[in-house]
Amino acid sequence: RDANADLRAHIRTIPDFPKPGIQFRDITTLLLNGAAFALTIDRMAEQVDGEVDLVAVLEARGFLFGAALAVKLGVGVLLVRKDGKLPGATIAEDYALEYGSDRIAIHADACAPGARVLLVDDLIATGGTARAAVRLLRKAGADVVQAAFVIDLPELGGADALRSDGIDVTTLVT
Ligand code: 5GP
Repeated sequence: RDANADLRAHIRTIPDFPKPGIQFRDITTLLLNGAAFALTIDRMAEQVDGEVDLVAVLEARGFLFGAALAVKLGVGVLLVRKDGKLPGATIAEDYALEYGSDRIAIHADACAPGARVLLVDDLIATGGTARAAVRLLRKAGADVVQAAFVIDLPELGGADALRSDGIDVTTLVT
């Protein structure tokens, strides 16, 4: 029934990280296994639907999966970083956290208007991060065609929220 049980077996759950009560899904164990990492990228590539011009990657774990996937697809990588890290002129977007807010940024000239962008991160929870990235990429003129994640936490509703924004969402492990 679970097509990706082999990948799931490499994801470790750390209780009470970063705060009491949080079950943190740790993908560092999957990254340590070359075969499992390669299989993850192969399966993400199989889920890519249609032509993509760029892979947008979310800091920091999204960089790893997104960069590997981009090489496999033969396209470039667009960095979505925490505000203040990129050296050139940027555009930024704020998003709400449980307490307070955060800001992500991209280089203002990172993508051509109409570029078909695939957004990649390791995990989607509430969707706050990914939805802010979609708003930012759209502000830059991108056509965000798909968002791909290794892990979905469906009870937090992020994937559904992203779908309601008009994005095709794919995930491997629930
Ligand atoms: P969201 O914005 O969807 O609530 O949270 C997703 C973001 O937080 C992603 O960038 C993801 O890397 C990080 N994140 C939240 N919870 C976890 C977790 O349990 N494991 C991992 N690996 N990342 C998490």
